[in-house]
Amino acid sequence: MLAAAPMLVARAARAQTDADPAMNSARPALRVLLGPGNASPAVEGTFAFQGRLYRGSFTRQDDGQIVNLVDLEAYVCSVVPAEMSPRWPAAALEAQSICARTYVLQRSNPRRAYDLVPSELDQVYRGIEGESPNATAAVNATAGRVLRFSAAFAQIAYSSCCGGHTEASSDAWGSLPIPYLGGVVCTSCSDSPYFRWSSSLTLESIAASLPASLASIGDLVDLRIADRDPSGRARVVELVGRNDSVTVQGSAFRRAVGPRTLRSLLITAVQHWPDSPEIDLEGGGLGHGVGLCQWGAHGMAVAGAAAPAILAYYFPGTVVTDLER
Ligand SMILES: [Zn+2]
Repeated sequence: MLAAAPMLVARAARAQTDADPAMNSARPALRVLLGPGNASPAVEGTFAFQGRLYRGSFTRQDDGQIVNLVDLEAYVCSVVPAEMSPRWPAAALEAQSICARTYVLQRSNPRRAYDLVPSELDQVYRGIEGESPNATAAVNATAGRVLRFSAAFAQIAYSSCCGGHTEASSDAWGSLPIPYLGGVVCTSCSDSPYFRWSSSLTLESIAASLPASLASIGDLVDLRIADRDPSGRARVVELVGRNDSVTVQGSAFRRAVGPRTLRSLLITAVQHWPDSPEIDLEGGGLGHGVGLCQWGAHGMAVAGAAAPAILAYYFPGTVVTDLER
């Protein structure tokens, strides 16, 4: 397995300080940076950290931060229910399991002191308390299965609901185009409560979010979508002031006002009534929209699709294969 997953370190080689019978296994472990705090061994190959139990063992870095050495499959068991409802159909949970596993293998870097953090910056990981029987069944059903493009692990991205068209990674992040992350039409996510939404932002809150951009244009009076990418998402937002106007990248605008306040950049309509302190927005989707549309996976699973077909749809050109091959 190490030959197929060279970025992961051998468990036995890494955990020299914390006795753990399971650590004698030759299976790879990944290193999750849990943060500063107290950790102590617990029963049966687990340990306690800040009131939570984690599988595997731990090491303490020179700066005092705790790193969890955990088996890849055990890690995925905790991640899947945090990233997708464990009440969803098995095929959707299996697709999420393959995504979570592949994400780790694609991102792990032996030159860093750890592979992952346990938050949305990578994937949410809460140790044993995060596990759920349905998700564990999906992880076990797909054990060792990964998503590849040609020989390489696919770059994984996923978000809650794409609103009808997934986003190209190059448009979302300004990176070079990736063949299987170019964006696809999605007709399967309309059951999401965020497939279509409307919300209002106050001019005052927008101005407070972007003080540097707005300094030269006077009081903010309106907002327009100046350019859209092929998926329909706002590429450039124009902020209109009393004296002048200024443009900001859509991604920077959403980051500034807050990704929970502005659910997505798929803004379909902007309405501002004269003298109103608010701007009314209509849009679709929740999240950046790149890669797997999770509500789309739900819809495809309900319609009878299996996990490999779901992943082939949202990552066209990729295939699900065994890690050991
Ligand atoms: Zn979708």
